[in-house]
Amino acid sequence: MDLSNYYQILQTLEPYHAQLIAVSKNQPLEAIKSLYQAGQRKFAENRVQLLLERKERLPSDIEWHLIGNLQKNKVKKIVAWVHMIHSVDSFDLAVSIHKAAADHNRIIPILLEIKISSEPAKHGFEINKLLDSLKTDPWESLNRIQICGLMGMATFTDDTNQIHKEFKNLKLNFESIKKAFPQFTAFNELSMGMSSDYTIALEEGSTMVRIGSKLFS
Ligand SMILES: *Cc1c(COP(=O)(O)O)cnc(C)c1O
Repeated sequence: MDLSNYYQILQTLEPYHAQLIAVSKNQPLEAIKSLYQAGQRKFAENRVQLLLERKERLPSDIEWHLIGNLQKNKVKKIVAWVHMIHSVDSFDLAVSIHKAAADHNRIIPILLEIKISSEPAKHGFEINKLLDSLKTDPWESLNRIQICGLMGMATFTDDTNQIHKEFKNLKLNFESIKKAFPQFTAFNELSMGMSSDYTIALEEGSTMVRIGSKLFS
């Protein structure tokens, strides 16, 4: 596999001190192994089944991130080893992760996924619903999850102004939640940016970009 995109992306991230999460969905194992051999350790899948298959076949020191929809009844399958769940979009799901993590004596880092796109996205909190939930649901009782920040996906569009606006908005919400909930002591990560928009996301304060197609092409 040609690793020039990998090194170029790492170079772009460096001044921002942002992390690269390599999204390996749709990629052959050999390509994933090439990235691993080049030093990449953080990989992500958007489906639980794929995550399970990849994990079984790849080196055990890979940090696996889940970035796609998670159903409560699938939490048990990944909770023993998953490194971070980017896609927590309800209090109930957070409760399920908390309970399952207790069985494994783990604390699971999670991100709260917010709907920032103008498209009718299926997943993610409406920001107002999240703010309500943070005030009224007993998040602080979930001591087996660590709320590490927010995740969002911008509209798929050529209109870079709109993408800037959506990421800027997510960053503002990130800052205000961080300030309003100092009890979230690990609230430091902003997961935004994919192949088509990661440079915009970096300008707007991303700390983690999730890149697939551009990395592997
Ligand atoms: C597939 C996917 C990505 C990566 O998308 P690319 O355009 O291939 O970089 C990032 N985040 C999520 C949630 C995804 O499902």
